[in-house]
Amino acid sequence: MKLCRFNNNRLGAVLGDSIADVSDALRILPQYTYPLPCFDPLIANLDAVLAQVSLLLPQAQRIPLGSVRLLSPVGSPGKIIAAPINYTRHLEEVLADKGINNGVESFTQHIRKSGLFLKANSSLAGAGEGVSLIHLDRRNDHEIELAIIIGREARNVPLDKALDYIAGYSIGIDMTIRGPEERSFRKSPDSYTILGPWMVTRDEIADPGKLEMTLRVNGQVRQAANTSDLILGVRELVEFASRFYTLYPGDVIISGTPEGVGPVVPGDVMRAEISGIGSMEIRARAGAC
Ligand code: MN
Repeated sequence: MKLCRFNNNRLGAVLGDSIADVSDALRILPQYTYPLPCFDPLIANLDAVLAQVSLLLPQAQRIPLGSVRLLSPVGSPGKIIAAPINYTRHLEEVLADKGINNGVESFTQHIRKSGLFLKANSSLAGAGEGVSLIHLDRRNDHEIELAIIIGREARNVPLDKALDYIAGYSIGIDMTIRGPEERSFRKSPDSYTILGPWMVTRDEIADPGKLEMTLRVNGQVRQAANTSDLILGVRELVEFASRFYTLYPGDVIISGTPEGVGPVVPGDVMRAEISGIGSMEIRARAGAC
């Protein structure tokens, strides 16, 4: 199942080039009270929501996919975890380009040594919302990444069980201002984490270690890679993250970007595609800064 959020917080099931509006499935969500939980209510109740979606589908209103504004498929993640350099050829380009590494040695370490980092939840946006670029005197780079959406509470997950803790997958765009500051600071302005176009439930992706990904800017291919080249694969990332954080339903892990990162400027259109998930178009504009 491909589940999307669109327009005014509507819930949709994606069927080819149309969306079935299944927003009524959200009615089964429990009403949470203050203090709010640190998990995403939709993902925490995904099985029940999907059962409702199946009941609603035959009568659901169909809307052309191209006519909606896609939001992040996870509305309220507890945290967004990100992998730094996690492809060997991306490490090589980081080492070779001072415009990327800024002369900061710690930005070129192996992921086992540097660990993971967090992006602010307020940086999250959907494909239809676009990217609002700031600090335009600096490089603002695209980074396409496979995004893993956690489905169950997880702590110290063994490698061979790791996939059981995943609800589904999306495409992530980890927008990055290049510079000497901490990653979380440069990668967390509003709209600098794009998640979309929807979440594909885990059952549709037989092997997340064999997914083709492509990112184009204005039609030109910038990044083309396969998740088979990940240094820490999907299982390893879930295991590694869960040894430091408790993972909750709706937590997002963006798995790191392959080689080919490069600048995006206002007016550019990015097109990101991952096999088995789909594709999305993201427009870049100038933000206030
Ligand atoms: Mn990244």
